[in-house]
Amino acid sequence: MKHKKNRISLNLKHRLVANGVKVIDESVTLRRVFEKHGGICQGCQDPTVLGIHPQVPKSATIEHIIPISMGGEHTWENVTLLCYECNRLQNEKIQKQEAQRTKTKSLRLLGYEITIQWRAA
Ligand SMILES: [Zn+2]
Repeated sequence: MKHKKNRISLNLKHRLVANGVKVIDESVTLRRVFEKHGGICQGCQDPTVLGIHPQVPKSATIEHIIPISMGGEHTWENVTLLCYECNRLQNEKIQKQEAQRTKTKSLRLLGYEITIQWRAA
């Protein structure tokens, strides 16, 4: 019998730290998130597959409910199980929302053309 991993991989930890995640609960592993949800994708309700190539459509992935890029934490409260497909769709949706929130305005000030860009809250 294979020994179950009880902590997140060093690889994932490095990636989270590199992305500026402040709170990392090391007990939140893909395997445990998978088991918590019975392997069911919380997006499309299809069964996901653990331990296959991560970019196969029904591959199990950890989804951060508040995205890491928006200050989300790697904790039980902030993770759910999504298949790769749903995860990708979710990411596209977030990127689209981000893009929509970025406003650009050009104005002429004292003869200079100034372009300002800001994010609407
Ligand atoms: Zn799904």
